[in-house]
Amino acid sequence: MPMNTDVNLHEPLKKYFGFDAFKGNQEAVIRNVLAGHDTFVLMPTGGGKSLCYQLPSLLMEGTAVVISPLIALMKNQVDAMRNFGTDMGIAHFLNSSLTKQQVADVKQDLLSGKTKLLYVAPETLTKEENVKIFQDVQISFYAIDEAHCISEWGHDFRPEYRRIRTIIDQIGKKVPVMALTATATPKVQKDIQKNLGMDKADVYISSFNRANLYYEIREKTKDVDKEIVKFIKNHPGKSGIIYCLSRSKVEELAEFLVQNDIRALPYHAGLDSQVRVKNQDDFLMEKADVIVATIAFGMGIDKPDVRFVIHYDMPKSLEGYYQETGRAGRDDGEGICIAFYDNKDLRKLEKFSTKKSVAEQEVVKQLLAETASYAESTSCRRKHLLHYFGEDYTEE
Ligand code: ADP
Ligand code: MG
Repeated sequence: MPMNTDVNLHEPLKKYFGFDAFKGNQEAVIRNVLAGHDTFVLMPTGGGKSLCYQLPSLLMEGTAVVISPLIALMKNQVDAMRNFGTDMGIAHFLNSSLTKQQVADVKQDLLSGKTKLLYVAPETLTKEENVKIFQDVQISFYAIDEAHCISEWGHDFRPEYRRIRTIIDQIGKKVPVMALTATATPKVQKDIQKNLGMDKADVYISSFNRANLYYEIREKTKDVDKEIVKFIKNHPGKSGIIYCLSRSKVEELAEFLVQNDIRALPYHAGLDSQVRVKNQDDFLMEKADVIVATIAFGMGIDKPDVRFVIHYDMPKSLEGYYQETGRAGRDDGEGICIAFYDNKDLRKLEKFSTKKSVAEQEVVKQLLAETASYAESTSCRRKHLLHYFGEDYTEE
């Protein structure tokens, strides 16, 4: 049911979250949801998307259902929400990590109307038994976080995400749908809206320009390792991330840096999970300056003072590049982003895709062509990146 949209929102913002002011589009977004409209939110990482669904969930009748792929982060978010109330039941998550008993408890709280916010993994939402439960729950709205997962053109496609609309229809409540993402090119945005059946949604776009980041492409020569050592030595004591495409390159480069007296650690999905967690913590706690990693590193990591991000290899897509470089300078301080480019690397990536379907190969080809065009262009990189996200950047 739509709410009175003149309601004072600063009071609950302060009371529940302790903030004095909204950031960017937050207030407009929240009012739009309260008014009962479908809402599409494009906001860079760190912009404050969670608040856009958390705050209205507390004000509206019923339970807001948040669909998120990040099981590891659900618990943190639920714990944070639970601090606002005395009742643990105010926020819950449902995913494959819960025991049967825990699932039963969550369902009971949902049906009793205690729960304002429920996080679900897409594969949990789409289970038939859960659809039945949701039919008996009063739902205030749906929020689809990390909505780029819907699109094959995004950098993190998840097939289950494409079934969300069907399930929402099966549950059969006429409530607003919100989609939120940090990385949507115009193509991805259209794809998301079409798939979620929200072509008429109100769209809120924040600028993707990160004025404190400096972007540079260097030709990758056989001396690239030495060049990296030299760069790090010129920035002593600074935190940095170096991305490589393969695990073996991660190991090799981390080793080489250590031999050159740089406090570096490797990170990739092939490492023992204890080692992985320790290396990540050491980096966050500044026991190491540099982390050499595959793209497995970074999702949900918030180290504000990362001063450089180096791409040893060009990533598969410009969206991925934007995400990864975006981990530099979160505190609005300096962030230097250097990518070492060799066209041969991209052709290698294209070859890897030949086992995929023809349609998927086409997607890979196009994403790689966009990356090559960025790397080989002679115009301003910032302009090029922003154009890719559908923005005009006019300053010199
Ligand atoms: P996103 O999902 O867009 O990456 P988050 O929702 O994780 O961003 O929020 C990023 C950070 O900004 C969090 O630490 C959050 O507490 C903070 N934040 C959100 N809204 C506000 C606000 N209005 N004022 C101050 N800090 C905020
Ligand atoms: Mg988020």
